[in-house]
Amino acid sequence: MSSLRYQNGEMVMGRWPGSSLYYEVRVLGYSTRSQLYTVIYKDGTELELREQDVKNSSGFQLRPRSRSRSRSPSRRRSRSRSPARTTRRSSSRAAAAVAAAAITESAPSSRRDAKLKDRTEVKLGPLQQTKTAENNGSNDKHETKEENHTESESKAEPEPEKNQNRYNLRQRKDDSKKPPERPEQKDAKMVAPAASLAPPLDFGGKIGAFFWLLFLPAWVLFVVLQVNLGDPSLSNFPPPLPPPESFWDARALGFVILWVLFQALLYILPVGKLSDGMPLRSGARLKYRTNGFFAIVTSSLAVAAAVYRGVDLTYVHSHFLQLAAASFLVSVLLSVCLYVRSRSTAPDQLALGGNSGNAVYDFFKGRELNPRIGSFDLKFFCEMRPGLIGWCLINFAMALAEMKQQRLAAPSSSMVLVNLFQLLYVADGLWNEEAILSTMDFIHDGFGFMLAFGDLVWVPFTYTLQAYYLVSHPNPLSPPALAAIVILKLVGFYIFRKSNSEKNSFRRNPSDPKLSHLKTIPTATGKSLLVSGWWGVVRHPNYLGDLIMALAWSLPCGFSHLLPWYYMIYFIILLVHRDSRDMSECRRKYGSAWDEYCRTVRYRIVPRIY
Ligand code: NDP
Repeated sequence: MSSLRYQNGEMVMGRWPGSSLYYEVRVLGYSTRSQLYTVIYKDGTELELREQDVKNSSGFQLRPRSRSRSRSPSRRRSRSRSPARTTRRSSSRAAAAVAAAAITESAPSSRRDAKLKDRTEVKLGPLQQTKTAENNGSNDKHETKEENHTESESKAEPEPEKNQNRYNLRQRKDDSKKPPERPEQKDAKMVAPAASLAPPLDFGGKIGAFFWLLFLPAWVLFVVLQVNLGDPSLSNFPPPLPPPESFWDARALGFVILWVLFQALLYILPVGKLSDGMPLRSGARLKYRTNGFFAIVTSSLAVAAAVYRGVDLTYVHSHFLQLAAASFLVSVLLSVCLYVRSRSTAPDQLALGGNSGNAVYDFFKGRELNPRIGSFDLKFFCEMRPGLIGWCLINFAMALAEMKQQRLAAPSSSMVLVNLFQLLYVADGLWNEEAILSTMDFIHDGFGFMLAFGDLVWVPFTYTLQAYYLVSHPNPLSPPALAAIVILKLVGFYIFRKSNSEKNSFRRNPSDPKLSHLKTIPTATGKSLLVSGWWGVVRHPNYLGDLIMALAWSLPCGFSHLLPWYYMIYFIILLVHRDSRDMSECRRKYGSAWDEYCRTVRYRIVPRIY
């Protein structure tokens, strides 16, 4: 950084994107590749700016506040040009956090010196919420509605929290009664403590990553051994480890490799559309072949043909451990290759969260954001194909194994429900494959052991435990119980699908006329946040739907053992943790606009509970 114009930590003036207004910002870093400075505004929003949009603080004067505010034409002009300003009330409130600190580039130097004498200073203080339509800058009906909503929600909050993270410009003399602040105090309040570009470490940091590397495979082994027991209680002592040679089966490895290659072949076929990924840090968008539904239909036909020709799929049940071990081997080899490859990857193609410098953490979390061989996207392929479609294949094999073991002419109703529910989940995911491109895994996470193991081992070998359990633990369902479970599943699915589609459509086309009735909060990044519709009920309505569905998957297995409830328990932990990761990430991205969203939408996943 030494040859750079602005250094890390330096307080400078940064142009508000799309406007002529400058705000005080702190430099967080510089990317030599994109030639952009990453800066943090006082409300915590981080943006990347070109060098010409960053200036030294000297030569700026504060734009006078007060009466001239509403009358000044120049002010009105610049307000309307700011991307964060819309006619909605919430817009002005969100943008106010930074707009209130607007400073214009100083005019002619002769007048500048005189004016500098009268220079005001940036001070932190609560911003008064304006209440009239005039101050909103609009009187449209929609806006008034939104104002009412926001006001009533925020009334319930304690006052100090309401205005936190808002800044204002005031003349020092306004504060003459207050004791002077020490510079370091002021500094501490002005900028969020973001010393580097990388977000804080997840999963318990470096030691946590080491723990998860060992624990996750051990846990899969434990549940796979457990489910084979007559009494598969999770409170049982772990069964004795089988001899090492029982983990190995060359045919199982061959089967796994063939399956992955078959899925890779389907993936590269020029069938289905090419979808755009979300914009990368460089602004570019990758193309993805989204033909997942075609892949699952073709795979189903291929499996049906194989069974028809006499292939005994119950092999999957009898060699579950060996298949899991083979998949684990493949996931470890893949993770090692990914890590080695990422050592020579350009810095701007690395995930922000997977570059702590600690080899174990980075291996676990994944370094490269979108590793590709030509146009073959390894992360997208692994997330959506072998494990996800493999999950349905294993469930189907368990239904055949149940018929064989229980001497049934057809699978039990519980087995049919588990198979159909999970097939619907996977088929829906593949039908709406494009939607995965706006999820956390694609936007934030690098591709490393965490995702490779998750996609290739965790999903196919633990999400199938309910079907595996039912093979030797039948649980007949009464018709009312069956109907109640089906209704529960459909309710969960409805919430899940509608909320995910709403956000995905909004992210892809914010001006989609079908979404025009929704209220939004603009953010400094140019993206807005939905604050009504599904995303106004709770902050993660999609997680709520997913959890309801998880409940419907476990209920067919009854209450005799905890093991088939394992998915439900694990999923609660996963989604609560995922929600908190997402909260921190969005806080970092959107600053006070995110706080505004959280104040308006109070609950995270379950209305009035959590
Ligand atoms: P989300 O799809 O909820 O994505 C979170 C992102 O959405 C945020 O980072 C933000 O990104 C954007 N966002 C958040 N709030 C708003 C808002 N109010 N308005 C507009 N955009 C908003 O999270 P996940 O990726 O975790 O989950 C995707 C789906 O996958 C969920 O349905 C989840 O249940 C499911 N899932 C299933 C798993 C399983 O094992 N079965 C595992 C994990 C997830 P930005 O603003 O940058 O667009």
